[in-house]
Amino acid sequence: QAKSKRRGATLIFDDDMEKACNERLNLINKLRQDLSEERLYLVFQPKVNLINNRIIGAEALLRWNHEELGEVSPGVFVPIAEAAGLSFELDTFVFRSACKVLANHPELPEIAINISPLSLNRRELLPILSGILQQYGIDKHRISLEITEGCFVQGEGCKANIAKLHEQGWSLHLDDFGTGYSSFGYLLDLPVSVIKIDRIFTWGLSKCDRSERLLGGMVNMLKGMKKQVLIEGLETEEQLVSAVAAGLEMAQGYLFYKPLTLDAFTLALKEQAVA
Ligand code: C2E
Ligand code: MG
Ligand code: MG
Ligand code: MG
Repeated sequence: QAKSKRRGATLIFDDDMEKACNERLNLINKLRQDLSEERLYLVFQPKVNLINNRIIGAEALLRWNHEELGEVSPGVFVPIAEAAGLSFELDTFVFRSACKVLANHPELPEIAINISPLSLNRRELLPILSGILQQYGIDKHRISLEITEGCFVQGEGCKANIAKLHEQGWSLHLDDFGTGYSSFGYLLDLPVSVIKIDRIFTWGLSKCDRSERLLGGMVNMLKGMKKQVLIEGLETEEQLVSAVAAGLEMAQGYLFYKPLTLDAFTLALKEQAVA
């Protein structure tokens, strides 16, 4: 009897595993299909100058409205795409979509595109990006590329591409700073103009003075390295006050704008133009 019970338990376990596997496979297949049919879309989260409160650019963020599941967060589908070998397709889709938008809207400020470490490791990356720019007649100075510290574990391909991108005049920003392998040492050699401090550092602000001092120290050191610094995830006035006290001049966060549809973004730009 004990034996059959155990077999029963094993069966249930296997069923669950199989179900989870199938769900994941279905998600991957659907993502692959929707990506090839260009059913994903971009939203734009403005970046703000804290000194004059003006929009200085925006980050393009990918959205996926799944037929049955509704909106799936990029926090969920980006890692799945990476594991399924789809990240290069995904990143080039975002880049191409952003170029189309820039071609139709000459008034837009700089748009930032997230590039996964896996894409940054690919040999074809630069020729493909340049080809898309050319196809839509876009100047690369209208775009910045957000890379992460994850690149440093990807190896030589990434390093070579970063060096080439810099040589060719691309603007590179380091995303999610402080969550990875942050040693200040490697930053000296990294050709990024802007450092985006991750929002985990924002959370502590307004809760304790120590976080504000830590942030101030980081900002000073980064400015000493001739980097521009932006803080992510500002949500409250208190955090804003602390961020300004820490010496920050740029930010992104719900306090200013959530990620916006293209229409809402162009409207926000018009509103500030008359203000
Ligand atoms: P990320 O590049 O660090 O993007 C910032 C994320 O923080 C976005 O979430 C944004 O909506 C969110 N955020 C901005 N301000 C606030 C705030 O004040 N409070 C809070 N709680 N969150 C805020 P999202 O759009 O869900 O993206 C999550 C991550 O998914 C991104 O982090 C990025 O790593 C990845 N991702 C999103 N779009 C793309 C894409 O087009 N390509 C690639 N490769 N990755 C993407
Ligand atoms: Mg980003
Ligand atoms: Mg970020
Ligand atoms: Mg982040």
